[in-house]
Order: sequence, then structure tokens, then C-alpha cells
Amino acid sequence: MIDIGVNINHPFLLDDLNKTLTEMKGAGVNGMVCIASDLKESKLVQTLALQNNAIWHTLGCHPHQAKTWNKESKQLVSMMIKESKPVAIGETGLDFNRNYSTPEEQFYAFDQQIELALEFDLPLYLHERDAHNAMLERLNAYPQLAQKSIVHCFTGDQASLENYLALGLSIGITGWVCDERRDADLQASVPHIPLDKLLLETDAPYLLPRNIRPRPKKNHPKYLPWVAMEVARLKGVSVDELTKQTNRNAEALFGITLSD
Ligand SMILES: [Zn+2]
Repeated sequence: MIDIGVNINHPFLLDDLNKTLTEMKGAGVNGMVCIASDLKESKLVQTLALQNNAIWHTLGCHPHQAKTWNKESKQLVSMMIKESKPVAIGETGLDFNRNYSTPEEQFYAFDQQIELALEFDLPLYLHERDAHNAMLERLNAYPQLAQKSIVHCFTGDQASLENYLALGLSIGITGWVCDERRDADLQASVPHIPLDKLLLETDAPYLLPRNIRPRPKKNHPKYLPWVAMEVARLKGVSVDELTKQTNRNAEALFGITLSD
């Protein structure tokens, strides 16, 4: 099983990385994709991935951090890609929920990252909140890129899911799905995600699955099986079948090979 969304920069996971990795593997999760939200984190996750064969990484700039993306950023990221190829460009995308960066700043950073993905033939690792139509409009202009990209931490309803699936996007599901009070829409839409488009992630240390007892304080890649259990239940397949298929999906999407 591979956790395709971990915020490893958080001290809770990073302070004792060996412990994080040991606990993760002990839970049957044998790899993780560490995601970057700005260039500093990009450097960090790249370094960690070079040192650990259970870690893969993205490179990019989250829409919240888009205000930090400047004239030099694209060149810096292309230099990093040449040092070690990331599995995807991101997190990138659009978030009009809180607008920590203005929509103009977000479009600028997003467009440049789309150019990087095209230039280096990499998938986009997408984040979208309250920006569904703007995201669709952008992706519609790049149908081939959309087909090989992923919307991470999908929390939308069935209509937005269908729009994304029509573009050929893969869909990342987090522990958000374990909370029927928070997101009945998501629980209703998960059964409609084709098995070959599904990926599993914790988004640790955030989004703790609410079905874990006793309740831990923070999320951890070792809790990915709780997400898998809930998704398997909603899809009506065994956890084993789901795991095999989501492993294959991660390998195909990110061009990686997982060990057993
Ligand atoms: Zn995100």
C-alpha cells in the first residue's frame, strides 16, 4: 500500500523520520509520496527521497503559497527536476476558499507549473477548493496532461467528480471519507470512481480518519489502512483487491515500482 499524500515537513512526522517510516511500514504501508507546497519544501522532499527508497516526492507550489512564486521559480524547479525527477508537479492548482494568495497569483503559479509538467512530461498533482469551474477551464485546454494527472484530496460531490473523470483525471481519497457527518456527498460519490482511477492518501498529519479508535491526536501514514477500509466498504470490494489496484494505479500514474 502506498500513501500518495504526506506533508512530511510537519515536525510531528519529520522530527523522527526513522520512527515515522518504521511505524508506517509496520502498518503495511510500504511507501509514501511526500508533497511539496513551496520551493523550500520541494528541496526538503527531494533530499528525503534521495535518501530513502520508501519515499517519492513532488516538486511545486501550492495555491496558498502562489504569492511566493516569482520570475525565477520556474527556472529553479526545472533545475531541480534535472537533479532528481519528481513523480509529479505539485501540489499546484487553485484554492478560492481562503485566497491566501490572490486568484491572479494562483493563476500565474499554476500556469507556469502546467508548462513545467508539459516540458518534462510529468503529471500534475492538483489541489482544488471552491475553484471547480476555473480548474475545469484550465484543464480543458490540456486534455492529454489532464488524463495523466491527479486531483488529490477530492472532497467534492458527484457532479464535480464526473467532470474530473470525464477529463480522465485520477482521484485521491483521504480520511475525509471516513466522516459521514462531514461529507455525505463524498461518501455518495466514491462508489462512482472507477477502481482504476482511485488512489489512497492520508494527507497526514492532517485529516485524521474519524473511524480510528481510540482517537489519535494527529494523522500519520500508518493510518492509511483505515482509509482503505472505508473506501473498500463504499466500493463493495475487499481491502486486498482495492490495495492491489490502487498500488497498480500509483505505479502507472507516477512511473514508479513498489516493493511488496
Ligand atoms: Zn491539497
